[in-house]
Amino acid sequence: MDIIILGSGVYSGTPKPLCSCENCLRARKFPLYRRTRFSIYIPEIKALIDPSPDLHYHLGRINERIEHVFITHAHFDHIGGLPELQIFRHIKFYGHHKTLEAARDLQKRFVGESRWNWEYFPLEFNRWYDFGFMVYHFKVVHEPVEAAGGFILWVKNKKLVITGDTGPEILDDAITVEKIKGADLLVADMTHKHSIPKAHLGVDDAVKLARAVGAKKTVFAHINHTNYTHEELEERVKPHLVARDFTHILI
Ligand SMILES: [Zn+2]
Ligand SMILES: [Zn+2]
Ligand SMILES: [Zn+2]
Repeated sequence: MDIIILGSGVYSGTPKPLCSCENCLRARKFPLYRRTRFSIYIPEIKALIDPSPDLHYHLGRINERIEHVFITHAHFDHIGGLPELQIFRHIKFYGHHKTLEAARDLQKRFVGESRWNWEYFPLEFNRWYDFGFMVYHFKVVHEPVEAAGGFILWVKNKKLVITGDTGPEILDDAITVEKIKGADLLVADMTHKHSIPKAHLGVDDAVKLARAVGAKKTVFAHINHTNYTHEELEERVKPHLVARDFTHILI
């Protein structure tokens, strides 16, 4: 099964406008180093995780239908592209009810409600749901967002785990770590060089999480322009992977 990391960056993307750090300078020169805002696509079930503000560009590249949309939390970089989905009449949205409130609001403001058969499925944290594929929405600490969470998805006997944006507190959350253990694929936050409590994972803590989860494959994403260069990150997290935009992962 193929999983595509559509966007590997954070809210500002790389290059961040007006920034002249090494990553931003390289990204302006070489498109390979650009990082659009975070998003994932699962072709098998036509599912999108987080409609990034770069969704129009992502759709242009993958040219695929979207039927299911999972939203980790209502930060701009994870939900801002929602109105781009208006080219699809039938979509099912999944997330915490507070996240879905923001999604509905965007639909109301920018898309309209009459002709679009968009359905919303609020998920409580820390329980399983069966939609033909199994879904579990686990809570993470990502302040000031009250309702931020990651997903476990069982698709065709494969266990996919996406942390979304998470603080390092996830390492001390024994129940969640136990639940996500043994994944076929872990996609984890690795925003910064060093963790920011209650906000994001740094490189060392991201690797610690990967070790605790023991997934068959681990890919780090949501990478800030101020982080190490792509090659340095690859070296530091070996044998785990560092996402670029449109990285395909076979599991
Ligand atoms: Zn984010
Ligand atoms: Zn920069
Ligand atoms: Zn966030």
